[in-house]
Amino acid sequence: MGRVSGRSCIVTGAAQGIGRAIGEALLDEGADVCFADINGAKVAEVAAANADRAAAQGARVTHAAVDVTDRAQVRAMIDHAVGVFGKLDVKFNNAGVNKPMNFMDVTEDNWNFIMGVNGLGCMIGMQEAARQMIAQGSGGKIVNTASIASRQGFDNVAPYCASKWAVVSLTQSGARDLAKHGISVTGFAPGVVATEMWEQVDRDLMEIGAAERPGQAMEAFSSEILKGRVATPADITGTTTFLASADSDYMTGQIVMIDGGMTLV
Ligand code: NAD
Repeated sequence: MGRVSGRSCIVTGAAQGIGRAIGEALLDEGADVCFADINGAKVAEVAAANADRAAAQGARVTHAAVDVTDRAQVRAMIDHAVGVFGKLDVKFNNAGVNKPMNFMDVTEDNWNFIMGVNGLGCMIGMQEAARQMIAQGSGGKIVNTASIASRQGFDNVAPYCASKWAVVSLTQSGARDLAKHGISVTGFAPGVVATEMWEQVDRDLMEIGAAERPGQAMEAFSSEILKGRVATPADITGTTTFLASADSDYMTGQIVMIDGGMTLV
């Protein structure tokens, strides 16, 4: 019996990186998992690649193409998962984007893109998951992906930081509003995790003149990690499975830092 056996979960941003790892770890502990992403072809491949992993636990796996900023698509994703699994117990709002720009160069387009996916996408994801859970009448868990950028403002990524601070406040607001329905809302805040997002951030920082060579930005960001190294997605999933499990039932409104001791707040 796994730690989340029988739980029906959706993970957004699950075509790669942290989201994929969250979904795979949930499967390993017996949950049914819907991998969801704006990259529909890639997330379908991820689901197919995990068929054996699911079968080994007697769990089920499916996938959905979704733009988390589009409420109708989010609703359709939830309807799909509920159609396959019969219910929704846990929703991870993990999809996120970044696009570094020097603070003084940040444009409305840059702001709206990042706040749209990371902020509004989280809001819509919470609302629509909660609507489903309220209709079911048996509570549930919503888990949001925050960041060290939820705790400190960094230059060159100001809208990203603002969007991740928004994730913290949405987690608190949602926790307060949804407690009466037995729905917990929590989040986790990774530090520097070696994923495609960071590789792209590295390239973008060079492009805007904030770094001179590949890897320089990641090294600079990582130099104060007490654990002495950047994270891999596998460093994150012990906590995310915990937040999806009954072991975290008395937690709500909280963000768990998983940053190797980078920001002690
Ligand atoms: P990633 O870029 O590897 O994966 C993000 C996924 O989100 C991609 O598959 C992408 O297609 C998907 N996505 C983007 N826009 C979407 C949309 N509108 N609708 C649905 N899916 C969409 O990134 P990652 O490093 O795995 O990051 C996952 C989450 O963790 C993000 O919220 C990110 O901000 C957060 N985070 C990452 C780090 C890090 O160091 N990598 C640190 C802190 C927080």
